[in-house]
Amino acid sequence: MDNDSFRRWSHRAADWSADYRAGIGARPVRAQTGPGEVFRRIAEAPPEAPEPMEAIFADLDGIVMPGMTHWQHPRFFAYFPANASPPSIIAEQLTAAIGAQCMLWQTSPAATELETRMIDWLRQLIGLPEGFSGVIQDSASGATLAALLTARERTLGWRGNADGLFGGPPLRVYSSAQVHSSVDKAVRIAGIGDANLVRIPVDGPRHGMSVAALEAAIEADRAAGRTPCAVVAALGGTSVGACDDIAAVADIAERHGLFLHIDAAWAGSAMICPEHRHLMRGAERADSFVFNPHKWLFTNFDCSAHFVKDPKALTDTLGIRPHYLRTAAHEGVVDYNEWSVPLGRRFRALKLWFVLRAYGAEALRGMVRDHIAWAHDLAGMIAAAPDFELVTDPVLSLFTFRYAPAGTGEEQRDSLNAALVEALNDDGRIYLTQTTHEGRFVIRFQVGATTTTRDDVRAAWDVIREVAGTLAA
Ligand SMILES: *Cc1c(COP(=O)(O)O)cnc(C)c1O
Repeated sequence: MDNDSFRRWSHRAADWSADYRAGIGARPVRAQTGPGEVFRRIAEAPPEAPEPMEAIFADLDGIVMPGMTHWQHPRFFAYFPANASPPSIIAEQLTAAIGAQCMLWQTSPAATELETRMIDWLRQLIGLPEGFSGVIQDSASGATLAALLTARERTLGWRGNADGLFGGPPLRVYSSAQVHSSVDKAVRIAGIGDANLVRIPVDGPRHGMSVAALEAAIEADRAAGRTPCAVVAALGGTSVGACDDIAAVADIAERHGLFLHIDAAWAGSAMICPEHRHLMRGAERADSFVFNPHKWLFTNFDCSAHFVKDPKALTDTLGIRPHYLRTAAHEGVVDYNEWSVPLGRRFRALKLWFVLRAYGAEALRGMVRDHIAWAHDLAGMIAAAPDFELVTDPVLSLFTFRYAPAGTGEEQRDSLNAALVEALNDDGRIYLTQTTHEGRFVIRFQVGATTTTRDDVRAAWDVIREVAGTLAA
């Protein structure tokens, strides 16, 4: 493709993107295609000869788009948001055009230095104190893995890296069952093993881990000759937004010399609003803290901010310097590949820089505050509705509810709500997902898309009642 064609088709892609956003509200939120439907329409073998861009674009519209779920839809209330705000999309186009691998300072000094600055902007925005540095990871899963690898090596005095994990006493990691499955995965990959992820029971209205039970578990493990290693605290769990009492957990982690990692993947973005920072009280004492601007800070995937207290512990764990990656020594230069599992790195800081400058902190706070307020409004309406039950109160912009018409029993309600969430998503006007809470099937509702308005949230309530009505009939 010559540069003139590149220009023409890039303009076409920009027009397509703006048209997509303009018309997105008219599409069903969740893809309505069945398994294999798209697969069957894609050529079985790759083409030998070039195909016209016109034809490729036509198939984007005709084949691909019907099979997409629209995460930027204003009535996307499922999972957590994955915002691609216009400034971040523009920066992502530029990032692709530049196409740099940002693994070493030398392979793009501006990418490294902008990343260092953006991490510090985020640190200030969410109210973490000075003394944390950080890196933009691909995902919260990647950050949690890097944190648990660091915890493992710190606990073992870096003998795990050197000698492998054979023969020593088991390392123990503590969390509640409300943490994300990325913790389970990291425990596996780090060689710690499922059996050594110790689940601490939760109590209280925030579904935080019982700190008395945490301490008892650590002491019992020590007495049994096991090696306590790390605690992973939840700040906004995925299921119902569980929040551990981080200050109380930090007391225990400090007292027992354990590494403390905080997973704030979703809720961390709301910490830009000072009125919610009570939820992170004690976070300044963590060794490691992750949140995803690619969820609720209007920056498209992938972009996870990973803050660490002691970067040397992280780079001692993950840094490897083969000869072909050596560069002339420069005083104080950071090579970010030593902070994460993959070597190759995208220029992720650019889109953050665009987003934070194009909106400014106050507008970002405003959007997050709106989402939270609208979620609370809707939760209030559901709590007041006779045939519905608010199951968990809003944590920021997430709550759970269920349809509970009079005369139905617990088991019947489980199947009724499973049917309701399916019927809603087949209907296509809104998109919701489910979880289980204390053994019951419940429907999650979160507000967080860049394009959502108060009217979309109100409309969701009308749709929920209408579709629930058809089930009962
Ligand atoms: C979404 C989420 C994750 C996983 O995030 P990725 O960036 O997709 O790895 C981890 N923890 C929590 C609490 C989450 O909500």
